[in-house]
Amino acid sequence: MYKAFLIKYSEIGLKGKNRSYFEGCLVTRIRNVLSKLGDYQIYREQGRVFVMCPDDYDYDDTVEALSTVFGIAGYAPVFVVDSTKWEDVTEGAINYVNKYFDKHDFTFKIFCKRGDKGYFKQSPEICADVGEVLLNAFPKLKVDVHNPEKKITVEIRNKTYIYSDCLPGPGGMPVGCNGKAMLLLSGGIDSPVAGYMISKRGVSIDATYFHAPPYTSDHAKQKVIDLARIISRYTGPINLHIVNFTDIQMYIYEKCPHEELTIIMRRYMMRIAETIANRSGAIALVTGESIGQVASQTMQSLNCTNAVCEMPVFRPLIGFDKSEIIKISEKIKTFETSILPYEDCCTTFVAEHPVTKPVLSIIEKSEKRLSEKIDEMVDTALNTREVILIK
Ligand code: ATP
Ligand code: MG
Repeated sequence: MYKAFLIKYSEIGLKGKNRSYFEGCLVTRIRNVLSKLGDYQIYREQGRVFVMCPDDYDYDDTVEALSTVFGIAGYAPVFVVDSTKWEDVTEGAINYVNKYFDKHDFTFKIFCKRGDKGYFKQSPEICADVGEVLLNAFPKLKVDVHNPEKKITVEIRNKTYIYSDCLPGPGGMPVGCNGKAMLLLSGGIDSPVAGYMISKRGVSIDATYFHAPPYTSDHAKQKVIDLARIISRYTGPINLHIVNFTDIQMYIYEKCPHEELTIIMRRYMMRIAETIANRSGAIALVTGESIGQVASQTMQSLNCTNAVCEMPVFRPLIGFDKSEIIKISEKIKTFETSILPYEDCCTTFVAEHPVTKPVLSIIEKSEKRLSEKIDEMVDTALNTREVILIK
């Protein structure tokens, strides 16, 4: 069994003077994810991160956990040998082939990387020497420098790491290195995907869910909690704020034109989410909207919704088709939960013919009808919210 993994990252390597900061975020994130599985040692060495596994670790669980860490471009299970004497390296290469390949009759090519440029052998010499040692030890092996069946990499650093397979990581940047945003999380397909997408860019998230009991059930609420839990594998811990929206929704229904209900509701959701964001250190809002998907997501509707926010509203899915969003939701395993048939607070009171091209001044005028009670209702909604830490 492999005792270690070598972690490769791409974009962070380009960050110049800030690189150390990004590397630190990556190490922290890997540490958090693996701490649930056992006592792993994680350390940095010259543009690489290494994970040393405890003796009793589970390979599949470890691979699965690393596949959720944004910032990892690829990760290779590695065979670790001493670098002090050259014989250690060559013997290590023989042991590696013996241990990790069932048959010893493949074509191969050796690749070399030296972290330690002062090492007493140059890369071409290392490749040639290790190749020769392997050919002598395994008579059926053949070198093929153009189209080898196995690419064997020998990385010489403080220790020497030998590997051939590099598993693809999720890419992106380590969560937490780019600040925090507030996700408006519903029980639908889109918003969990939006949360995943924004955290892929290194943004950690909290989430706000608008609940409308008794029109939306505890099942609907549990579904949102479950979705938050699924995406938290990627995003890290999420403070989920559950806001009771019933009174506000009923009040809008009572006072405003029904065809404007959805837009006005959305504007109050954004206002409330922005207030919670401000209180929790988030500096942007995130939604699962995509242009034209439904009446409340035409450009005019999005403009009306946007108009109430001072902080930027990010919509990572803005240019995605539903089928593309579904593909991601299947990949991150939110799809099955998202399609459970529980009611959504937006659909409970939805008008038969909602406005598709709302005009901001008209919407603002309609909202004036709420002036008597709405501020108090918003305060109550904020003050009675439930907060659940999802991790
Ligand atoms: P989703 O699949 O994310 O629910 P949708 O296609 O159903 O999206 P809408 O219901 O119009 O679209 O919602 C658009 C966005 O508004 C959602 O992606 C989400 O960010 C936010 N949103 C909608 N309803 C709620 C809610 N009850 N609580 C929190 N956010 C919500
Ligand atoms: Mg929805």
